[in-house]
Amino acid sequence: MRESEELKMFRKSVRQFGEREILPHVEEWEEQGSFPKELYLKAAEQGLLGIRVPEKFGGAGLDYGYSMALAEELCWSQSMGVVISLMMHAEIATPLIDALGNEEQKREYLPDAVLGKKIAGLGITEPGFGSDVASISTTARLEGDHYVLNGSKTFITNGATADVLIVVAKSDPNAGHKGLSLFLVPTQTKGYSVGRRLSKLGNRTSDTTEIHFEECHIPRSALLGEAGRGFYYIMHNFQAERLVGAALSCGMSQMMWEDGLRYAKERMIFKRPVAEYQIWQHEFAQLRAEITSCRALTYQAVDLLNHGENASELIAMAKLLACELAEKVATRMLQVHGGYGYMEEYAIARHYRDVRLMTIGGGTTEVMREIIAKGFMK
Ligand SMILES: Cc1cc2nc3c(=O)[nH]c(=O)nc-3n(C[C@H](O)[C@H](O)[C@H](O)COP(=O)(O)OP(=O)(O)OC[C@H]3O[C@@H](n4cnc5c(N)ncnc54)[C@H](O)[C@@H]3O)c2cc1C
Repeated sequence: MRESEELKMFRKSVRQFGEREILPHVEEWEEQGSFPKELYLKAAEQGLLGIRVPEKFGGAGLDYGYSMALAEELCWSQSMGVVISLMMHAEIATPLIDALGNEEQKREYLPDAVLGKKIAGLGITEPGFGSDVASISTTARLEGDHYVLNGSKTFITNGATADVLIVVAKSDPNAGHKGLSLFLVPTQTKGYSVGRRLSKLGNRTSDTTEIHFEECHIPRSALLGEAGRGFYYIMHNFQAERLVGAALSCGMSQMMWEDGLRYAKERMIFKRPVAEYQIWQHEFAQLRAEITSCRALTYQAVDLLNHGENASELIAMAKLLACELAEKVATRMLQVHGGYGYMEEYAIARHYRDVRLMTIGGGTTEVMREIIAKGFMK
């Protein structure tokens, strides 16, 4: 993959941002289970929050290549928790407002989202339904000039910090998946409440909560896109979300691989560095080949998206392989650290817990295989 000088410089600046603004605080933020909201403002100053948002709304108007570089390079901050929160806001939720919003909605949300002043999240998953999006049960009843939301969401990234949540709800309970709509819900709305803050295996700096709606009145103008098209919008937006998942997995894999190799070159066993044993050289070589191939697949999908083509099958392949690979790399790089890998004072222990999310969030590995299979079983 050839990259322009601009993209290379962008990569460098993102990596420096993560190493300067996030890395020194990771342990403290992990401990407290959150990171300061001011980090969004700092990321905005660096121009990281509106990469694909058009310039007229304050964004940079760039393409998916930059979004993927952002996801990859932020991994060197060594905090996947912070990165998934930033990516949820900047690369998953905000672009959905850009893609579907009317002029008024875009003017209301996009400039502040790009400046890190209004944080966005996406509420699809419910306690009863995750993979099966068509079955979600939160309702949006139309009453005069308002929709009235009732129901609950769970596992919502940025649940406690978001200022606006894009909510998927059933506006026509009798129309199956054609009855789903999207709504822009300010989190201060009466009837909207943040439920439990969920205690997680990993990514502890990222807040993940339940959200409840109880007779939550939102104006009709909060409808995002057309009523009844929500299922299709979500399926389309999954392309960007899953591409972020693939890029994040590639970034985490590369970062863990580099860290593991550095350790293996320093750690002496039987008077020789671990890295001098052929068995480990072959292990590193194998992983390097697999990481390179996952990156190539991911950037092939990026290329399709940049040309406005449907990339859902390729993205499913990239997410499937890159996310499974991140788990494998974490396991092997923990192993190369021996007992130290099992100690919390070594970052690999945290990465091992964090990357476990990748084969689940934004569509599971099984769902990715299902998408690929549908392509050849038509
Ligand atoms: C830390 C974290 C953050 C998250 N952030 C968000 C967020 O911000 N917003 C949001 O809306 N959601 C979020 N999610 C939810 C996430 O997208 C879902 O967990 C995921 O889509 C899976 O849904 P589920 O958990 O309900 O699992 P289920 O759908 O109940 O799946 C259970 C099992 O069945 C398998 N399965 C599903 N379909 C099939 C099939 N067709 N064939 C065979 N097996 C199948 C699954 O792969 C899985 O192994 C988050 C989750 C986590 C853990």
